[in-house]
Amino acid sequence: MNKLGCHVSMSAPDYLLGSLNMATSQDANCFMIYTGSPQSIARQPISKLKVKEFHQSLKEKHIPIEDVIVHSPYIINCANSEEKKRHFAKVFLAQEVDRVNQIGAKYLVLHPGSNPDKALGCKYIAEAINFVNKKNNHVIICLETMAGKGNEIGSKFEELKEIIKQVENKNLVGVCLDTCHVSDSGYDIKDPSATLKVFDDIIGLKYLKVIHVNDSLNDKGAHKDRHANIGEGKIGLKTLKAWVNYPLVSKICKILETPWTIDGPIYKKEIHMLLGK
Ligand code: FE
Ligand code: FE
Ligand code: ZN
Repeated sequence: MNKLGCHVSMSAPDYLLGSLNMATSQDANCFMIYTGSPQSIARQPISKLKVKEFHQSLKEKHIPIEDVIVHSPYIINCANSEEKKRHFAKVFLAQEVDRVNQIGAKYLVLHPGSNPDKALGCKYIAEAINFVNKKNNHVIICLETMAGKGNEIGSKFEELKEIIKQVENKNLVGVCLDTCHVSDSGYDIKDPSATLKVFDDIIGLKYLKVIHVNDSLNDKGAHKDRHANIGEGKIGLKTLKAWVNYPLVSKICKILETPWTIDGPIYKKEIHMLLGK
């Protein structure tokens, strides 16, 4: 079965159970959560999140725990030039990986970080992952392809390749490809097979673990990172449909991170559009 889902919230009082219910109410068969606010580092203790009930309910709904993706908060920058901030980022990342492990999930999406010196930034990011992996043997950190805003690292496949090269345990590192970001960074994504050939030549397809399916408000190469609803941006429904239904990625979780309306998300409609129902 094709894996297509969406980013859902996780909040009191039902936490993970609420996330799962929100996902299935949108006809998603996989989903992504943050362990707290994406812009903050405040986190609830895992004991509050209803992990046991969550696993029971996943089982009943036939959703494997691997299809629950976690995204780390935006504000940590493992590539920071300042040693103190970099240290803070890697310690937070280690705690986040521990939380993901306690939830039982397998994939943690990470924005690689920012540094004007790309090579140095790549080195710092790999150092952070190696640090985290001293106490991790389960969670795969998935470096997200970025739009290339400011000094963001990861807008070029070569940068992700460089980070992976320096990660000691290759089984614990992967990539999350975001269609909006990859288009914004300048890649032509009209034909998934052509884009994935480039990805394969540079990074290696075996590292592709998650896909974010978003339309973009801006043209290819804009470096803006503004998501649009499916079919309402510059990428368009035809291309996004081609990605979602591309057989090579059917077993990879594809997650919508499209804008919500004042009435909430419209994922259900978008999921049906993408699946052609
Ligand atoms: Fe992201
Ligand atoms: Fe994304
Ligand atoms: Zn984005």
